[in-house]
Amino acid sequence: MDQDKDKRIAELEIQVHELERDLIHDSLTKLKTRAFFEEELGIYLTTLTGNEQGKRKEWFGFRNISIVFFDIDHFKGINDTYGHDIGDMVLRKVSKTIQTTLRTGDTVARWGGEEVIVSLLGANEQDAVIKAEEIRVKVEGLIFSEVPNLHLTISAGVASSEKGLILSELVKRADQALYTAKHDGRNKVVAYGNKNGR
Ligand code: GH3
Ligand code: MG
Ligand code: MG
Repeated sequence: MDQDKDKRIAELEIQVHELERDLIHDSLTKLKTRAFFEEELGIYLTTLTGNEQGKRKEWFGFRNISIVFFDIDHFKGINDTYGHDIGDMVLRKVSKTIQTTLRTGDTVARWGGEEVIVSLLGANEQDAVIKAEEIRVKVEGLIFSEVPNLHLTISAGVASSEKGLILSELVKRADQALYTAKHDGRNKVVAYGNKNGR
């Protein structure tokens, strides 16, 4: 009887673990969810860039955090030309490319449809631009055996933490930089600081 009970408890523990995992991961791409990303980034920002008292602390020895917004170029055209299943496959492959290029401590999340956001702990704007550029080049070189004629590119917007900068403002900056990258012809990485002459 006790053995049955132990077995049932062990099964329930596995189920709880799986539910917790599913709650913070996007089912299509297996990246983190936007909600998870926002919560974690919020904690980093209040720790790194100062709380109400303006005190700046370290997070495991890190003082900077940067974020990068990635958006696939002309993704709607890929769906329209090759179908939604191929679109999904492309999205998964791009997500994996981003994830595997970053360090394990970095967080990669699906922000929305075909938008991926990442946080790079310890990276200043220049470091983040280099990483984003590495990813941009990798994506440009991806080959899809199912659709050999597909030439895929992504654009990226980079922004870095500053004292007192709140989450929504940091995300807005990365989004503005991404908008500039799109406007400047796509397949580009743009940093908010550069754009604004800092
Ligand atoms: P741009 O270069 O300006 O970013 O152009 P775009 O076509 O990529 O931009 P837009 O935001 O207009 O289109 C995004 C498309 O992504 C539209 C939507 O149908 C598609 N999409 C969103 N989520 C998914 C998904 O989960 N799977 C697939 N296959 N497509 C998706
Ligand atoms: Mg797009
Ligand atoms: Mg988009």
